Amino acid sequence: MASSNIVVTHAETGLVTAEVVEARRISPNFVRVTIEGDELAAWRDLGFDQWFRLAVPTNDHNRFDNLSDTFNTAAYLKYLTLPKATRPVIRNYTVREFRREQRRMDIDFVVHGDHGIAGPWAQRFPVGDTVGLIDQGCGFTPKGADTTVLVGDETALPAVVGILRDLPREASGHAIIELADLADRQDVAAPDGFSVHWLERAKGQTPAEAALARLRDLPAFEGSVEAFAGGESKLATGARRHLVGDRGVAKQAVSFCGYWRHQ
Ligand SMILES: Cc1cc2nc3c(=O)[nH]c(=O)nc-3n(C[C@H](O)[C@H](O)[C@H](O)COP(=O)(O)OP(=O)(O)OC[C@H]3O[C@@H](n4cnc5c(N)ncnc54)[C@H](O)[C@@H]3O)c2cc1C
Repeated sequence: MASSNIVVTHAETGLVTAEVVEARRISPNFVRVTIEGDELAAWRDLGFDQWFRLAVPTNDHNRFDNLSDTFNTAAYLKYLTLPKATRPVIRNYTVREFRREQRRMDIDFVVHGDHGIAGPWAQRFPVGDTVGLIDQGCGFTPKGADTTVLVGDETALPAVVGILRDLPREASGHAIIELADLADRQDVAAPDGFSVHWLERAKGQTPAEAALARLRDLPAFEGSVEAFAGGESKLATGARRHLVGDRGVAKQAVSFCGYWRHQ
């Protein structure tokens, strides 16, 4: 994970395994993977931008039974001692939708080409594969400020959609979502007082530029402010710098997390 100030709150469920039961392309750059499993019956459903460590299989010999129940430094060091041939790869993902009665969860994967593990894995529609999840809690917890500001790119679309869905209906503010393609937009159940700004990255434009420019252009905020910024590393740190440095928002009122790094 790149720069971040989010606090991890592990759940008692520890490592949860489930099976991919559906996978489909929902828009040009997104594949929705649905997982199902009895262990999901006990999943701590927090809504908002709840995220988890996802153990993604890399071959048929991967083992999930020797993975740790948490993912702190000690657990990560232990993970590194496991044989590479049998250990799954760990990446970070967000709960897109959780349905306890069906013991199912949707995860929306940005498919970003052939580099990496998780994106290419989702792109293969891996129905039948086993995955492991270690719940990490939410990055953003609303405190009821007068204005809420959300800034994200496609990787944070599940987080922003979840926050807009779960905020109190009287909340108001702005959600800025920068995408590679506006066809990746999704329906959002935003409170009425929200302006949702969908932006398409121009051809050749560096990720984060469009979102940060729109953030700088927003009118003065009313009253107290709380914010979430997630996505490409420069988007997360740039949004925080602007909010704290230029707009005087309290540091602790801005949850930010670099989700990936543009290279
Ligand atoms: C808290 C949190 C929640 C997240 N939730 C989601 C989510 O719900 N859905 C989601 O799709 N992602 C999410 N991400 C981002 C995801 O973890 C990263 O994009 C991750 O790098 C993908 O792993 P990979 O194996 O596909 O690529 P990696 O092996 O990590 O990277 C391989 C190469 O691909 C590049 N790359 C990685 N991601 C992208 C991208 N999105 N676009 C372009 N290039 C990329 C890297 O720069 C690198 O060069 C989240 C990240 C965090 C920290």
